[in-house]
Amino acid sequence: MAMKATKATSTTGARGGADTTDYDAIVVGGGHNGLVAAAYLARSGARTLVLEARNKTGGAATTEAPWPDAPEFRVTRLSYVMSLLPPTIINDLQLARHGYKIFPMGPYYQAFPEGGSIKLYADDAKRNHIEISKWSKKDADAMPRWDAWLAGLAEVLGPLLLTVPPNLGSRKPRDLKETLRLAWRNKNLNVRTIADVTRLMTMSIADLLDDWFESPQVKGALAVNGVIGTWAGPYEPGTAYVMAHHSIGDVGDGHLGNWGFQEGGMGGVADAIATAARENGAEIRTDARVQQILLKDGKAQGVILDNGQQLTAKVVVTSLHPRTAFLDHVGRQNLPDDFVTDIEHWKTRSGVVKINLALAELPDFTADPGTSLAEHHTGSVEMAPTMPYIERAFQEARDGKAATRPFSDGVIPTAFDKTLCPDGYHIMSLFTQWVPSDWNTEPHTEELQAYADRMIDCYNEVAPNFKSSILHRDIVGPYQMEHDYGLIGGNIFHGELSLEQLFHMRPAPGFADYRTPVPGLYYASSATHAGGGVCGIPGMQAARAAIADRKTARRSPTRINTAVRRSRRS
Ligand SMILES: Cc1cc2nc3c(=O)[nH]c(=O)nc-3n(C[C@H](O)[C@H](O)[C@H](O)COP(=O)(O)OP(=O)(O)OC[C@H]3O[C@@H](n4cnc5c(N)ncnc54)[C@H](O)[C@@H]3O)c2cc1C
Repeated sequence: MAMKATKATSTTGARGGADTTDYDAIVVGGGHNGLVAAAYLARSGARTLVLEARNKTGGAATTEAPWPDAPEFRVTRLSYVMSLLPPTIINDLQLARHGYKIFPMGPYYQAFPEGGSIKLYADDAKRNHIEISKWSKKDADAMPRWDAWLAGLAEVLGPLLLTVPPNLGSRKPRDLKETLRLAWRNKNLNVRTIADVTRLMTMSIADLLDDWFESPQVKGALAVNGVIGTWAGPYEPGTAYVMAHHSIGDVGDGHLGNWGFQEGGMGGVADAIATAARENGAEIRTDARVQQILLKDGKAQGVILDNGQQLTAKVVVTSLHPRTAFLDHVGRQNLPDDFVTDIEHWKTRSGVVKINLALAELPDFTADPGTSLAEHHTGSVEMAPTMPYIERAFQEARDGKAATRPFSDGVIPTAFDKTLCPDGYHIMSLFTQWVPSDWNTEPHTEELQAYADRMIDCYNEVAPNFKSSILHRDIVGPYQMEHDYGLIGGNIFHGELSLEQLFHMRPAPGFADYRTPVPGLYYASSATHAGGGVCGIPGMQAARAAIADRKTARRSPTRINTAVRRSRRS
């Protein structure tokens, strides 16, 4: 990543100070996870500093005005919808008081190039039956059973999101105790549920949906969540789990799988967390790029900024991509060899392109005519008509060519949120896939423009006013994601949600408890369990681990120095 020495800008909570160089805790990275970690650490009484390389906090949860000649249009530039932030964090940090405000989304909507459309509701079985019956009576009857099946799985998987993964395979008494505790908590699982979880973890979303539904339209609609942000087409094993990961959250209203728009865009979520952190006393510095983690006797002691300034703290929490956090900032020579190998092998592709649009009017769909705001504008406005359509887009990208007809998870947040652009206009956000996985290495500017043209043409086929309604467009490809936002490889989650990178393997076996091989260094990125997504869980868990270790050290001071973690894999 480009190194740029700039003067740091500091915003200070009650206990900080821009001239201070010694803290109790330093958090590297002011994305939403870093901010959550800082808020919890500061709340525990630690003098906490957040260091963010960019000129603003939020990371991939950011609202920006990308068009200098039209600053009145703001877009939620990368991530675009909320679902996974747990009520624990919302309540602990009193985020509603700090501006966290979600508009629940309307239905999933797909207009088909061959005519007709489908709407799917997160919580309205009766209307789902009517909509799906347009395509298949059998599928309409199957839908309530599918919803109940998913709800049953969410009961098992949901609590796991807030569980610290045990160190599976370790024979140390503490690790064995944690493994047994997890088994005990799940003692009520029966043979059928275990089988269902196994299917979910191992099957492709295509095979799973084939077991339940017959119509291509319904299967296409349900497949989208299985491939979001994933370097895998719908026929790849493991994509069924990705669907579940995106289906088990709610926006705090208790409706499973519901997603919502933050008022003011996703930057509003990060701002609410930053305000909570500051209120608890944390100091936040922007334009402050960390170059190195400072080590003394093998333990974290602070950080060195790219302008050479040293800042010290006994606790350092890093929320950066694992390659940056460990290989660049800690250094291979300071880490166990097998851990280095695991991080080198970390899979971090996704081939995602985000396209943000300012629109003069809403899309006028042939299947559901009109440019006045209607229900089908209020949810996800998809371009993923069938499973083969999605698969073709992936196969082309895997063969080294950007998709001819990309798939898109589109949303129009301004259906609810009036703060993003002037009255009468709209913002539309297209989360699209795929371009080749190595497009993080070159900007591919012209090819991305052509890709965006094709994506827009696909929508234009079903809403003929679409192309002419576009006032401005902003295209963010994998190169920009890596170089401007630190999302190495362009992966939206700091690492793929593939089976070998989940739970006790995230980010590496033996180190899934938000601790690292370096005593005093904790890990809060989306590359840990429960990440990715804007869920804050990694930030909360890393802070909890640091706070717990400090308490233990205070109770028995000798343990702080003996907590060498290099042998965690025995
Ligand atoms: C295009 C796109 C769409 C997405 N859509 C959704 C969605 O709709 N809903 C959802 O829940 N999730 C979505 N995600 C995923 C989600 O946004 C991420 O998983 C999450 O925001 C990551 O948060 P984080 O705090 O772990 O890391 P980041 O947000 O990556 O934060 C890390 C921070 O560290 C900073 N940094 C980097 N290097 C340094 C350094 N050397 N020194 C100091 N600071 C540094 C970065 O600038 C950044 O601010 C999307 C992601 C992308 C890219």
